[in-house]
Order: sequence, then C-alpha cells, then structure tokens
Amino acid sequence: MNQYIVVGAGFAGCVCARELAEAGKNILLLEKRHHTGGNAHDEEDDSGILVHRYGPHIFHTNSEKVFHWLSQFTRWRKYEHRVHAVLKGKSYPFPINRATLNQLYGLELNEAEAIEFLNSVREPRDPIRTSEDVVLNTVGRDLYEKFFLNYTRKQWGLDPSQLKAAVAARIPVRTNDDDRYFTDRFQAMPLDGYACMFDKILDHPLIQLKLNTDFLQLRAEYYSSGKPLPHVIYTGPVDAYFDYRFGRLPYRSLRFEHEHLPDIAQFQPVGTVNHPNENSFTRITEFKHLTGQDHPGTSIVREYPSAEGDPYYPIPSDENERLFQQYQDLVDMEANTSFVGRLAQYRYYNMDQVVAAALTTVQGILRRHA
Ligand code: FAD
Ligand code: UDP
Repeated sequence: MNQYIVVGAGFAGCVCARELAEAGKNILLLEKRHHTGGNAHDEEDDSGILVHRYGPHIFHTNSEKVFHWLSQFTRWRKYEHRVHAVLKGKSYPFPINRATLNQLYGLELNEAEAIEFLNSVREPRDPIRTSEDVVLNTVGRDLYEKFFLNYTRKQWGLDPSQLKAAVAARIPVRTNDDDRYFTDRFQAMPLDGYACMFDKILDHPLIQLKLNTDFLQLRAEYYSSGKPLPHVIYTGPVDAYFDYRFGRLPYRSLRFEHEHLPDIAQFQPVGTVNHPNENSFTRITEFKHLTGQDHPGTSIVREYPSAEGDPYYPIPSDENERLFQQYQDLVDMEANTSFVGRLAQYRYYNMDQVVAAALTTVQGILRRHA
C-alpha cells in the first residue's frame, strides 16, 4: 500500500520522494514523460555528447544544505558559467561589467569611473516595481535598449514594463571585471550528468516509479472507483490540478533547436551567447563548456520562446499573480495534497530553490502526519 503519491519526477518530486522514503514511507512516483529529471533531464545525443534536452541547466546555490543534500547522489565538476551578448555582430561580456562598458563605448574606465559612468546615465526610479524600472534605474536607457528590451520582449512576449522587478533583477550589473554569470558560493555541474544523479536519488526500495503515467487520468479513475487517494505531493501546473477553474495560468514555453556540428571542436568562446536583438532565438548554449566533455565535434541548442508548448516558465506579472492567488486560495483548502515546485507554486524558481522548497514541504508533511 502506497502511503504517498508524488506527481512529477523533476527536482521537486524526486527530492520529496527520497526524503519521504528515508522516513520509512512507501512512495508511488508518477511521471507523465518517459524520463525522470523534469526539465533538468540530460542525455547523450546521437554523437555521444551529453546535452540538456530542455535547455541549459547550470547548478548554483548559496545554500550549503541544498548542496550537501544533492552531494549524497553525485560528485561534482567545478564550473562557473560565462555568457556573452552579441550586438551587431560584436560580442560583449554579460552581465554588464566594466569591460562591457569599455568595449561598447571605447572607454578606459577604472572601477570608480565605471560607477560614475553608470550614475551619469541611470534614470532613477522610485518605486521600483517593474523590470523596466530595475534596468533603467541601474544602467539607463541606452544599455536597456541594447541588452534588455528586445531580449525580454522575445523571451516573454511582454514588455519589461509588464514584468515584475524580480525578472530583470536576476541579472546583476557590475563595475568590476567579474564576468561570471553567477556569484553563488557553490557552482558546479553533476559530474556524470543530471540523469545519473536522479537515478541515484530514486534508487530506494520504498520508491516505486511509474513513467508515462498522467496523474490527472489516474485521479479520475480513483474518483470513479470511489477509492480514497493517499496524500498527494503534486509538482505539476497548479491550474491543471484544479481543471483550469479560473482559466489558464500563463506559462511561457520554448522550442529547443538542437544541432550537432561534427567538424567543429568549439563553436563559441563561452557556454552561452545571448542574442538580444537579432534572430528569433534568445540564446545559444554549447554543452561541452558546461560538461567539460572531450569530443572532436560539438553540440549546441538554440532557444525559441513561444506561447504554445510545455509549460516552462511562470510569467511574473501583477495580472498573473492575481490569477495565481485565486488558485492559491484553493491550494490552502486542499488538506490531502501538498503543492511544491516551479509549476505548482507558480514561482520562477531555480533548481536549488526547488530542492529547498521540497525539503521544507516534506518536513511539514512529516510533522503533520507524525
Ligand atoms: P519540472 O522540472 O517542470 O518537473 C515537473 C514534472 O512533473 C515534469 O517532469 C512533468 O512532466 C511532471 N508532470 C506534470 N504534470 C504531471 C501529471 N499530471 N502527471 C504526471 N507527471 C506530471 N535552474 C537553475 O537552477 N539553473 C539553470 O541554469 C536553469 N536553466 C533553466 C533553463 C530552462 C530553459 C528552463 C525551462 C528552466 C531552467 N531552470 C534552471 C529552472 C529549473 O528547470 C527548475 O527550477 C526545476 O527543474 C524545476 O523543477 P520542478 O520539479 O519544480 O519542475
Ligand atoms: N535578460 C535580458 N537580456 C539578457 C539576459 C537576460 O533582458 O541578455 C532578462 C530577460 O528578461 C530574462 C531575464 O533577464 O528573461 C532573466 O534572465 P536569465 O538568464 O536569468 O533567464 P533564464 O536563464 O531563467 O531563462
């Protein structure tokens, strides 16, 4: 007899399943795709290069607890992600730093002068509510239009003024020469890949995994048979769970165009190159930078944002927040189901934040069911 059903075998579902199994609980883990790992799933392409099927996933965290929890299931390869942005065919370090300013404007600013420069171009905003406010307030209009405006329109189908401040606030602005995308304490990739790490997380006698199984269909069968459902930990889209009662919550999707280049050992100088203004894709990632894999060819992925397709990103706007709140009110009344993860909580979570949220969720469940 399964004591818990966990829906979704991404980070949220796998962490919950393992933690509950460690506490002696019997788990049925359901995943509608044919693989575990959710959007962090990786696999070798036909050429033998390890690629991330759903776009580049770079692990970074400041949480020692999260890093140590995952370290039970993987060894790590140190990796600090670097990104360039291409403007009119020229590459610049991104996020904006001192070198970006000097290269773009033909200047030789030192750090103090770079601070002064940004102070002279920024457009102070108060209060800061939107992503437009964040960027204009920090770097002013020219840099906003060159690096942020069109990328954001492509990525979200919205203007930065329609998105909450937290979206653009993910991107720091620096006046020193630090050209890393992240500055977290722990930055590393699972040494043997994400799929291998997920296999280890789920390798527990109390976890039964069923792939290609949609919980919402199974739920309908439970309802019609009159059988009671065990406690459910649900990590899928929250609006789907409630049969879209208040209408669809917007999630942004992407189309991934994977390409293998057999005769090129290195396609681009850094892991990701952003294309803010030209092309309809936002960025190109070359996986060998992330994994350190040795191979005579290389594999890349282009990301084309889209309104249609699998739900990948909650869209942080005031309007969507209000709609989500209606669903959250239903969540709060649902005693027999716990909701956790990027889709279920409608939060723009990174992987480490999902792990932390899952650990907290399980603690709460075990306390309540003690
Ligand atoms: P998911 O990974 O979406 O897993 C949910 C799972 O539930 C899915 O496998 C789905 O198939 C399954 N499911 C849904 N409904 C049902 C159902 N009815 N029945 C059965 N199964 C169901 N984070 C980082 O930290 N670093 C990065 O570099 C990074 N890059 C990213 C790049 C892209 C393009 C995207 C889209 C995300 C990126 N993220 C990154 C975020 C990261 O993917 C998420 O934080 C994390 O994977 C979310 O885990 P999750 O378990 O909440 O959701
Ligand atoms: N962004 C931008 N230009 C860039 C990179 C990012 O305008 O070159 C904005 C854009 O709105 C994007 C957000 O910053 O959605 C967050 O970027 P991040 O790289 O964190 O996005 P993710 O990796 O989650 O897709």
